[in-house]
Amino acid sequence: MTITINETHNPELTSWVESANLPFADFPVQNLPFAIFRREDSNEAFRAGVAIGDQVLDLAALKKTEVFSGLAQSALEACNAPELNAFMAMGKEAWSELRLALSKALRSNSPFQAQLSDCLITQRDVEYSLPCQIGDYTDFYTSIYHATSVGRLFRPDNPLLPNYKWIPIGYHGRSSSINISGSDFNRPQGQLKMPDAEIPVLAPCQRLDYEMELGIYIGKGNASGQPIALDQAEEHIFGMCLFNDWSARDIQGWEYQPLGPFLSKSFASTVSPWIITTEALAPFKTPWQRDVSDPQPLAYLESTQNRNSGSYDVQLEVQLETEKMRHENQPASHLSLSSFRHSYWTAAQMVAHHTVNGCNLKPGDMFGSGTQSGPSAEEAGSLLELSHGGKQKIELDNGETRTFLEDGDSVIMRGWCQKEGATRIGFGEVSATVLPSSE
Ligand code: CA
Repeated sequence: MTITINETHNPELTSWVESANLPFADFPVQNLPFAIFRREDSNEAFRAGVAIGDQVLDLAALKKTEVFSGLAQSALEACNAPELNAFMAMGKEAWSELRLALSKALRSNSPFQAQLSDCLITQRDVEYSLPCQIGDYTDFYTSIYHATSVGRLFRPDNPLLPNYKWIPIGYHGRSSSINISGSDFNRPQGQLKMPDAEIPVLAPCQRLDYEMELGIYIGKGNASGQPIALDQAEEHIFGMCLFNDWSARDIQGWEYQPLGPFLSKSFASTVSPWIITTEALAPFKTPWQRDVSDPQPLAYLESTQNRNSGSYDVQLEVQLETEKMRHENQPASHLSLSSFRHSYWTAAQMVAHHTVNGCNLKPGDMFGSGTQSGPSAEEAGSLLELSHGGKQKIELDNGETRTFLEDGDSVIMRGWCQKEGATRIGFGEVSATVLPSSE
């Protein structure tokens, strides 16, 4: 089964929340993403909210109004918690029912405008926590452009390993260090071995980088021993967010063989607060293609549905704001723009492959898509690629240069979907600042 277009996607719909109708609003009534929030600097309980324009609709307050009934009201009850896991576990029917009810109640001329108006809080006045308990985090590596250019830096003679075109490659990451947008962190230290040195040293990372990724949240899980078939995979994906997988390239270069990344990745990763649901993304699904000269997928990773609409055209942009820009009130500098549609594997193929051995996924588990570099150089999703392994300085708009991140640098990522005949929807943003090493 695939997610289909329905009345909630109708581009004619407008909301009585006027800020939702502005042309470049991230959160029009066609979006309706979920987050966990509370009023800033308050002792309130964190609870679920839905974004509409520049407001948050407080779902705990909405539940009390009892304007919804049936499955939509049950879904609201599951949302009245400091994490979304119970709601995510309810599955697609409940997600859809609540989305339809919210869409109707937030549309222009809704009979519930008065009751819902009392449940709105300005986004400027709230703070967010992680949207769910992320039990397990798996980081994939689905951009062949990223895999090839990074592979070339680490292994000039053998950039792309032969399994890449057969397996959605991934490794098990660390969920404890995934933080919400705005969580600044100290530059990590680790073992570094300079190319001409005989032995490594323990020192602060000198090649700190970001990775522009999408986060993919699992909704309904699967029982151990029961793989999820490719064409059922999307029913298990609750939604997507922006994901910055900070990476210490010098630690990575020394530690990554033979078992993969470890301390070079586990010190911090950052997610955006809003989860854009799979249903909201339905209008932006696109065909998935595999070059005819490449190996075609094994049967469990192959289907007509996946070919017809397995990819998602999500635009991803990275900006860098240095400490100097902040002090001098200069705008952040654009670094790159790419799209998830370039991914070598689809989100559904990631789910099917992850579970083919019987591995059980749980509600709230998260996948990183892997750095989403596109085919051209300016679409690279990391500084490692943009600076050619640190050899070429990147010039910023204010004249400063970078090869890797310096203390005080903030990395800001934004995402959005737009196409003819659909309402543009946005992901909001994810940002965090590098603080000096605590050593
Ligand atoms: Ca990564």
